Amino acid sequence: MKKAAIGIGSNLGDSARICRDVFDLLGKHPAIFRVRFSSLYRTSPVGDSAGGWFINGAALLETLLAPEALLDVLLEIERDFGRVRTIKWGPRTLDLDILFYGNSQIDLPRLKTPHPLMSERLFVLAPLAEIEPEWIHPANGFSVREMLDRLLATDHGQQIQKLEE
Ligand code: ATP
Ligand code: CA
Ligand code: CA
Repeated sequence: MKKAAIGIGSNLGDSARICRDVFDLLGKHPAIFRVRFSSLYRTSPVGDSAGGWFINGAALLETLLAPEALLDVLLEIERDFGRVRTIKWGPRTLDLDILFYGNSQIDLPRLKTPHPLMSERLFVLAPLAEIEPEWIHPANGFSVREMLDRLLATDHGQQIQKLEE
C-alpha cells in the first residue's frame, strides 16, 4: 500500500460541487483507501488561464494502484467530468494531479512526481498543508509546511481564500 497526495482544481461549471463529487468518487474507489480531504479554496488563476478563479483542494489517500495506474484512474475521472483539453493551462472543469506518490521520484513523459511545480503553487500547498503538513518532499527535503512558509515569504502574487462550508 502506498500513500499518495492528489491536487484537485476546477474553474468551469459548478466547481465546488465537482470537487466534492470527486472526493466522494475517490472515497468509493475499490483500490483507494483511507481518503482524507482538505477544505476547498477559491484561488486566483496562475499563468494564462483566461480569467476565471479556481476552486482547489487536496486529498490524501492510500492505494494499491501503481503510480501510472493511479494516474489513469484520475484521467478517467477528469474525462467523466467532461474535461476537454484545449489550450495549456486553459479553463477546465476538472484537473487532478498526483502531487506525491510515496517517496517516489518519477520522471516519465506522462508522469512526474513529486509534481514539478508544487513548491511554487499556493493553491497546492495551502490545502495540502491542512491535511499533511509534515510530508517531506523527497527531492528538496522540505516539509509541506516549510514549502508553504517559504512561498508565503516571497512575492508570489497569488490570492487564496477558504470557501465557506
Ligand atoms: P501542470 O503540470 O502545470 O499542473 P496541467 O495539470 O494543466 O499542468 P494537464 O493538461 O492536466 O496539465 O496534464 C498534461 C499531462 O501531464 C497529463 O496527461 C499527464 O500525463 C501529465 N502528468 C505528468 N505528471 C503528472 C502528475 N504528477 N499528475 C498528473 N498528470 C501528470
Ligand atoms: Ca495541474
Ligand atoms: Ca493535470
